[in-house]
Amino acid sequence: MTTEPAIVIEGLRKSYEEFEAVKGVDLTVERGQVFAILGPNGAGKTTTVEILEGYRTRTSGKVSVLGVDPESPSRAWRERIGIVLQESEQVSLLTVRETLAMYAGYYSHPRDVEETIGMVGLSEKADARASRLSGGQKRRLDVGLALVGDPDLIFLDEPTTGFDPEARREAWDVIASMRDLGKTIVLTTHYMEEAQRLADQIVVFAGGEIVARGTPNEIGGREELPSRIEFTLPTRIAATDLPPEFRAAVGADGRVDLETPDPTRSVHELTAWALDVGVRLDDLTVARPTLEDIYLKLTRLENGGE
Ligand code: ATP
Repeated sequence: MTTEPAIVIEGLRKSYEEFEAVKGVDLTVERGQVFAILGPNGAGKTTTVEILEGYRTRTSGKVSVLGVDPESPSRAWRERIGIVLQESEQVSLLTVRETLAMYAGYYSHPRDVEETIGMVGLSEKADARASRLSGGQKRRLDVGLALVGDPDLIFLDEPTTGFDPEARREAWDVIASMRDLGKTIVLTTHYMEEAQRLADQIVVFAGGEIVARGTPNEIGGREELPSRIEFTLPTRIAATDLPPEFRAAVGADGRVDLETPDPTRSVHELTAWALDVGVRLDDLTVARPTLEDIYLKLTRLENGGE
């Protein structure tokens, strides 16, 4: 097994005539990682991913995908890459099994068709026509089509858009099982929960540049940001009765909302006080900033606070 990264990009730029959509991007995707690319519409994600897939040319910069420049792809290289596009329509008359078998025929070392059907959870639909599948089932078939060639690197473009919550969780299980097989996965998504759940590394694109990178828990300085303690001021308790640091955190609506760098101590003070005076804080919550909070902060900053 090589330890060479799956993807290396240095100084990547892409212009569409006058407009520069990607403005000097550097990134490395290690093998066996789930790598999530986040960013608002028009940030340059698809442009970058399609350059990696060999479907778009670049203006300048260096790109290596599985050790190959995607602008000069070989058939052997193509076979090592699986792609799940945002939208796809299957040949309507074929069943799930027939569709997968047809795709398997394009590869020299395909994965077993039945095993692939099982992996993406379509065993009960193996004999159903692909055109009759539900939206979520079609996406599973798309993932199966990307997997049947047994690729090393898989690109998933918004893999769960339009899924109901249950289908989304099932898709996450499929993606996690691909990672367990040692595959490298590049995922674009607008769902922060998806990135939080699946990604080993995240980059956030905005305006053609990477504005943040890191693990889901550390990106954007997330670890250092204050936590938030919230509860409703109990009846018969005045703001001035609360422990000192909470007194100025009471809103006009009677909600207490405190940002604290030291939630362990603040919660301790609050609950010790509450037990002492005999009040219950039934709706007490303590929360770290979510990935979505961080993402919105990063991308708003980039837009000049619009
Ligand atoms: P989304 O989340 O909406 O998919 P994205 O981050 O994938 O967005 P891109 O599709 O890479 O964004 O587009 C980046 C910018 O480049 C956009 O402003 C887009 O209008 C522009 N662009 C993309 N493709 C072309 C093209 N073929 N010709 C001209 N401009 C393009």
